[in-house]
Amino acid sequence: MRQQTLQRLTILGATGSIGLSTLDVVARHPERFEIFALTAHGRVDELAQLCLKYCPRFAVVASAGDAARLNEELTAAGCFTKVMSGAAALAEVAAHEEVDTVMAAIVGAAGLAPTLAAVRAGKRVLLANKEALVMAGDLFMAEVRRAGATLLPIDSEHNAIFQSLPADYAGSLPGSGVRRILLTASGGPFRTTPLEQLARVTPEQACAHPNWVMGRKISVDSATMMNKGLEVIEAHWLFNAPAEKIEVVIHPQSVIHSLVEYVDGSVLAQLGNPDMRTPIAHALAYPERIEAGVSALDLFAVGQMTFEPPDGQRFPCLPLAYHALRAAGSAPTLLNAANEMAVAAFLAGRLPFLRIAEIIAAVLERIPVSSLPDLAAVMAADAEARHMAEALIHAE
Ligand code: NAD
Ligand code: MG
Repeated sequence: MRQQTLQRLTILGATGSIGLSTLDVVARHPERFEIFALTAHGRVDELAQLCLKYCPRFAVVASAGDAARLNEELTAAGCFTKVMSGAAALAEVAAHEEVDTVMAAIVGAAGLAPTLAAVRAGKRVLLANKEALVMAGDLFMAEVRRAGATLLPIDSEHNAIFQSLPADYAGSLPGSGVRRILLTASGGPFRTTPLEQLARVTPEQACAHPNWVMGRKISVDSATMMNKGLEVIEAHWLFNAPAEKIEVVIHPQSVIHSLVEYVDGSVLAQLGNPDMRTPIAHALAYPERIEAGVSALDLFAVGQMTFEPPDGQRFPCLPLAYHALRAAGSAPTLLNAANEMAVAAFLAGRLPFLRIAEIIAAVLERIPVSSLPDLAAVMAADAEARHMAEALIHAE
């Protein structure tokens, strides 16, 4: 058997859905992985339990108060994890010289800075935090190239595309004989809900995804199909694919996780049960394969796989995302920021479901697209869109 070197891992967003799935895979392979740092925003008690189980060198929380509480809890239990707090600490554990791999699993724009810190330090970065790439794609990819970081997609669709592209894919679809990328989507919980009922759907209904168990923000994104819109933009940056080469296909069974169509008519796809531990294990061990705890795909139980085109009227967020991708510059940053604000307002009961797309459209209409030469410009565009979205939501 090959001698294994231990991979030291930082998990940004360890208490979330992706973070916990990552720890589940890691726990199956103690000979391969060592947890270096775990971070969380709120859920201090959950993080304390994870620290007691995995004994990381560092734990990071949002506030100094939470850090003091966590430190007390861990010290009382005889655990020597060093507790830190704040944005600088997140970047520190992401870029630390002893870290090999960073799982970027914070939700939303808050994940950009620490993920970028990992990229700039040339780490192996496992990217779940799609919002970071959507809001700052150009800059992010330039930093990946400059620092020589390895970027591996965790989003199930992008991981499937990565697996279906040639192993030596060098960033040119035509150069690899690829005609199109086909991004599958389940259609979410409201694919067939009568349109007149959509105005009244609740956060609980929106978060009840038929195939995947996920955090609340991405669950709402799946219900509006903005998640697929963000993924179109994510695919653009990861695979250097223009908008017209990325097609969305509704596939309600979520068995085919995405496909790559070649010029000779071949279509390669990656299939599996809808369980994020598969792409997580793939990226953790890449280019090797490891056990992920996922049950074998039973094609006889699946029985049928169906496909349909997306309905842009029912799901206006998807055309909005294509529009932002084509408009380029700050447009995807504005789209992402407005979406985060609108989704948070919907989850807080401050905004009806159908207003999410309308708020995003209004922000894109009112703020002119600008170029984004640096991170300061990205953050300024993000802030302007949040401000505008909040004003529109407040006026409801
Ligand atoms: P989640 O809400 O379950 O977890 C989010 C994590 O981020 C938590 O650990 C939380 O403490 C942390 N966090 C939240 N706000 C933060 C802040 N301001 N600063 C620092 N940390 C913060 O979310 P999730 O479902 O695990 O999704 C994480 C990311 O992965 C998202 O970008 C999502 O789009 C992407 N993703 C998730 C899935 C999935 O199946 N859950 C699939 C594909 C992609
Ligand atoms: Mg996905």
